[in-house]
Amino acid sequence: MKAISILGSTGSIGTNTLAVIDAFPDSFKVVGLSAGNDARALAAQVAKFRPRVVSVATEEAMKTLASLVDLSGIEAGVGVSGMTTVATAPGAELVVAAAVGAVGLVPTLAAIQAGKDVALANKETLVIAGEIMTREQRARGTKILPIDSEHCALHQCLASRDLGSVAKLWLTASGGPFRTRPAGTFAAITVLEALNHPTWRMGRKITIDSATLMNKALEIIEAHWLFGIPGERIDVVVHPQSVVHSMVEFVDGTMLAQLGRTDMRIPIQYALTHPEAWPTPLEPMDMGAALSLTFEPPDHERFLSLGLAKEALRRGGTTPAALNAANEVAVQAFLDGEIRFTGITEVVRDAVKAHETLDASTLEAVLDADRSTREQAREACVALRRPS
Ligand code: MG
Repeated sequence: MKAISILGSTGSIGTNTLAVIDAFPDSFKVVGLSAGNDARALAAQVAKFRPRVVSVATEEAMKTLASLVDLSGIEAGVGVSGMTTVATAPGAELVVAAAVGAVGLVPTLAAIQAGKDVALANKETLVIAGEIMTREQRARGTKILPIDSEHCALHQCLASRDLGSVAKLWLTASGGPFRTRPAGTFAAITVLEALNHPTWRMGRKITIDSATLMNKALEIIEAHWLFGIPGERIDVVVHPQSVVHSMVEFVDGTMLAQLGRTDMRIPIQYALTHPEAWPTPLEPMDMGAALSLTFEPPDHERFLSLGLAKEALRRGGTTPAALNAANEVAVQAFLDGEIRFTGITEVVRDAVKAHETLDASTLEAVLDADRSTREQAREACVALRRPS
């Protein structure tokens, strides 16, 4: 029995993780569940999986949770400290980090420091604090297993290969819903249009990030920390079918690609069972049907995010944390109808430009950069507020 705690259990990755666990009831047990404000969904999960520790974002959500499900014998916490209790729950061997955004950083880092393996979907944590997380992980000999489909693919392509033989990592990108949309119409993009992703069903924040290609930008930084490859040797290729999840180019001219269905239960199961491979309950990809795969370079003129990520990595230190903080604020402002779609990248670009890069080897330094950039980005969003 592998004991698992989940941060972000009611989100898209969280619910898919519980679906994988549910498919192997004799092999996995749920020790901790942490959610945001969706007390109703969490109550159903608690009733079914009976974890030992739970947490929600607010006291109000905890009140609702307690009114919906019997919490006797369950340790219940609130906010980041509650999340951290779930992340460090005694007995949990693997922590699925599936919260969205910077809020997952402190609990995920605590899980690593408590000697737990982490299955990471919450890419923002590595973007903000990659240096600290990988340092702590190496010091404790724990594993960070990527759930992000591209990084799961790279993890497989790189398995047992010497890093010196790697020429380049190629992250595939679907291109999002606006791949072929004329740049002149980007300012008119609505929230509904941006939330309509062509190949993946995901949470709101990551879906908007996919529409701006910021998700791929964050994934460049994520890949850098996961695999120790410099940013100059990580590139993006647009592959609208999302069948090839990523590729590795080796110095000898060979390339390895990983293919699979666009179903997050596959990379989740890979991370949960690693280094073993268990039979999936899902239908395999139908290789008997006609399948066309196309690849094209990304359009850097229309999508500035990729260039911003490369610049943030080049500058290093706290710059990626600033990029992430500005993006989180701007995406929320767009979802709230405050700024235009094009405003998201403008806010991020200006934040990266204005950021004074500092050493990012301490948690305080990255949390400071996160906090101050959020304040500036909020002001920038107010200045960009669209006339109603
Ligand atoms: Mg991804």
